[in-house]
Amino acid sequence: MAVWKTFSDLDLSEARKTTFDSLHDCFTRELKPDLRPIDGRPGVLTSPSDGIVGACGRIEDLQYGTDAQLFQAKGFPYRLLDLLGDDAPGRALARQLQGGSQSSGRRGAARESDRQRVQSGGKAWRDSMNLNEDVTLGEQEADFSAVDKARVVEALARVLPPGALMYESEDLRPYECDGLAAYRALPLVVALPTTEAQVVAILKACSELGVPVVARGAGTGLSGGALPHTQGVLLSLARFNRILKLDPHARTAVVQPGVRNLAISEAAAPHGLYYAPDPSSQIACSIGGNVAENSGGVHCLKYGLTVHNLLRVRGVTIDGEVVELGNHALDAPGYDLLALITGSEGMLAVVTEVTVKLTPKPQLAQCVLAAFDDVIRAGDAVAAIIAAGIIPAGLEMMDQAATAAVEEFVRAGYPLDAKAILLCESDGTPEEVAEEIARVRAVLEHSGATEIRVSRDEAERMRFWAGRKAAFPAA
Ligand SMILES: Cc1cc2nc3c(=O)[nH]c(=O)nc-3n(C[C@H](O)[C@H](O)[C@H](O)COP(=O)(O)OP(=O)(O)OC[C@H]3O[C@@H](n4cnc5c(N)ncnc54)[C@H](O)[C@@H]3O)c2cc1C
Repeated sequence: MAVWKTFSDLDLSEARKTTFDSLHDCFTRELKPDLRPIDGRPGVLTSPSDGIVGACGRIEDLQYGTDAQLFQAKGFPYRLLDLLGDDAPGRALARQLQGGSQSSGRRGAARESDRQRVQSGGKAWRDSMNLNEDVTLGEQEADFSAVDKARVVEALARVLPPGALMYESEDLRPYECDGLAAYRALPLVVALPTTEAQVVAILKACSELGVPVVARGAGTGLSGGALPHTQGVLLSLARFNRILKLDPHARTAVVQPGVRNLAISEAAAPHGLYYAPDPSSQIACSIGGNVAENSGGVHCLKYGLTVHNLLRVRGVTIDGEVVELGNHALDAPGYDLLALITGSEGMLAVVTEVTVKLTPKPQLAQCVLAAFDDVIRAGDAVAAIIAAGIIPAGLEMMDQAATAAVEEFVRAGYPLDAKAILLCESDGTPEEVAEEIARVRAVLEHSGATEIRVSRDEAERMRFWAGRKAAFPAA
């Protein structure tokens, strides 16, 4: 809570409670009079419990009407025309919306028929907006009941080699969900391309037949992004998985979308390099999925998310057009479309090739484990570390429930009587690490840590992190 307050300027004046046991408590508000119902249609957000508002705010009129921007999911600014389409109807709509307000949300309890997982360009966004409603962005019901499985199989079999197309129920079963296993659905067919030309051919065929397509990497996502559409094609990029080039001098690697996150670091290791974003799922998750989710890991505080570690992405749009965003130089002129596609959850293009930046491995990394007898004190210590101007290589907190759950699993040696522990990593030259750890230790002592341990070797450092990284499987 203390950390949230520090970073997000939380206004708790309208919260229902005055003391908070959880973040949920501080986001719970009394329903305002007359708020419900706004609209009886299931596609429209009608109360805070029906979904999550991801972002909201003003549509800023930056230069002139049609260049107005709004801030969308994951904090990226989008131009209205990028969303609505830079054509006459798009510009007319943009003029109407400039200076207004916007919100975007993710619905809860979606019905399968509502899950329209179709990649969208400007037109689909425009179509999904209902200008006569209070809620700006609605959701369009789509009817794919006319999709003919036999025709889809026939069309895709023409463009794929044998073994790259699956449509029998037992073959489809492994693809029925991603990491969000509460939602399951069998796709009509699964296509497993190994080249960009095959991806283009699949998307062109699906576009012509009006078939929805869902891209899938390793299926570790926790947001249901790779949940199949029952009337659609699941496009698995898992076999499209070669490292095409690794340039230790330029510190870059060019990889296909199905390459595992950790495999990039393994390939770069002999050159003293690694790929910095390290989601806890890195042993399995794919770089295509990382781009689509803008994934990060414990080290993203210092080294950034996926978006900060990319140079160039090639992809294919829903109608089969190949696009290339960014380039091999450190900065590209023009709009930052690389940032637009990163985190777009497979909705703008199927990623077919990624150029990532590689980072030199630090000479030394050490991890401080600090125990606290109070969760709030541990949170305050995080704020104090940042306030002291320290940007640790990694900084994570685990409460007592989490340490108890993982200790059985990984035997990390966590102090189980602590109400919370902090893991704070320092990296660099031995001198830099020693200096930073001394500063971190001073802040932690001042913040009321009851115990402080510093990893003595690489094995102990890995053990400290093992519990944090294994929290999901342990639970
Ligand atoms: C144990 C565990 C720990 C995790 N830890 C973290 C963590 O620390 N940090 C974090 O950020 N996430 C974490 N995740 C979530 C998940 O691993 C990441 O979001 C990861 O980037 C998903 O990659 P994937 O290859 O599994 O993608 P999938 O789950 O297959 O797909 C995810 C999304 O990407 C789209 N997609 C996949 N491939 C492509 C492509 N080639 N082109 C276009 N779109 C594509 C899909 O349509 C879907 O919307 C964790 C998950 C688990 C199970």
